[in-house]
Amino acid sequence: MFRSFFLKYLVYPRNNINNESIAILLWIVKDNIHSQGDKNMTETFKHIETKIIHAGDPKPPIEGAVNLPIFQSSTYEYKGQGKLKYIRLSNTPNHEALHKKLLSLENAESALVAASGMAAIASTFLTVLSPEDHFLALDCLYGGTKGFIKNVLDKLSIHHDLIDGNKPESWESRLRPETRAIYVETMTNPLLQVPDLKSVVRFARDNNLVSIIDNTFASPINFRPPEHGFDISLHSCTKYLNGHSDIVGGAVTGRADLIEKIKQTLKHLGGSMDPHVCFLLYRGIKTLSLRVHYQNSSALKIAAFLETHNKVEKVNYPGLKSHPQHMLAKEMFDGFGGMMSFELKGGLQAARHFINRINLAFIAPSLGGVETLITRPVQTSHRGLTSEEKKSSGISDSLIRVSIGIENPEDIISDFTQALSSIP
Ligand SMILES: *Cc1c(COP(=O)(O)O)cnc(C)c1O
Repeated sequence: MFRSFFLKYLVYPRNNINNESIAILLWIVKDNIHSQGDKNMTETFKHIETKIIHAGDPKPPIEGAVNLPIFQSSTYEYKGQGKLKYIRLSNTPNHEALHKKLLSLENAESALVAASGMAAIASTFLTVLSPEDHFLALDCLYGGTKGFIKNVLDKLSIHHDLIDGNKPESWESRLRPETRAIYVETMTNPLLQVPDLKSVVRFARDNNLVSIIDNTFASPINFRPPEHGFDISLHSCTKYLNGHSDIVGGAVTGRADLIEKIKQTLKHLGGSMDPHVCFLLYRGIKTLSLRVHYQNSSALKIAAFLETHNKVEKVNYPGLKSHPQHMLAKEMFDGFGGMMSFELKGGLQAARHFINRINLAFIAPSLGGVETLITRPVQTSHRGLTSEEKKSSGISDSLIRVSIGIENPEDIISDFTQALSSIP
């Protein structure tokens, strides 16, 4: 009886409720929140595998539906006190549920989704920084982010200096009185270097900077930046969070005060996520733990195989003991992820042979999906670099980047074996 009352008046409110029914309603709502909502969040949802499935779901479920329906409505009835509900304001039931799920996964105070990873990144930069401000950025950033800094922030007179993520002692000399933020990535693309993230947080605290990290490559399964003191964690949900290479989306998690401001910027830029995409992302996240744990384990096997192969010059994977930041990664991460890159002996020719002979994987950009994807960074993410720049950033012509999918790793290894054997 309580449940039908709850549904009738809370989920499908009417305008003609009298005072008495409001009193009963409030009592039921209070009772419901205490007995189900809060209790579940703190007691039952201890582990990330459980949060992935249940966090964010409305209690009780709407009409008993096991899955949150898509609220395909751009606008909602006005509830007074300036409380507008509208898709661009990122506050529809699909947005709210996703925000709760995401903040819960990273143990953050708050979360916000955006139309793409770049919408999340752009809104964050434009919130934290103003003209004539300065920030420090990792010297190897995702190409889209680098492009945004060069083509948008530079024009707005928002200045930056690049830092070596593994030389914390060199950061202080880059500080200016107007330095406001430090921006890093959990693992770099495509060499999978791991910056000294603990020092980044410490340095930000000591110097009153906002610490921002793009955590796309790790996913919340392998690393949760807010737990380590980062103010803001960013994701391209296009990658691991959704995991099926069928949507674009972005997310910001972290400090509630900052997320609220970023939400306002996102509203102005018009970069909110569509409810249908919210639904797909909410569904995709449900297998995040299964996918990423499997990818962690497959990637380790495949990296170890490649490392011993006589046609392979070098493998970049943080899970290998030979990786320069292996110990750092082991200490901070719960898994080493599904991304790796390797150099072939024999330069450009060898890379061409290998790519042409691959059967199982797609030769395609992007990452984090259920299917294995292979790229040559000199053809995709780093195609604009001069040969000098390629050399200084360690991107060789024979470098191959792989995003390991959830196929059986033995099949991936067989395919790699036959493709490697085609190299003369
Ligand atoms: C893909 C990606 C982005 C951009 O995300 P979109 O969803 O394509 O806008 C940002 N950072 C990293 C590390 C990425 O891999």
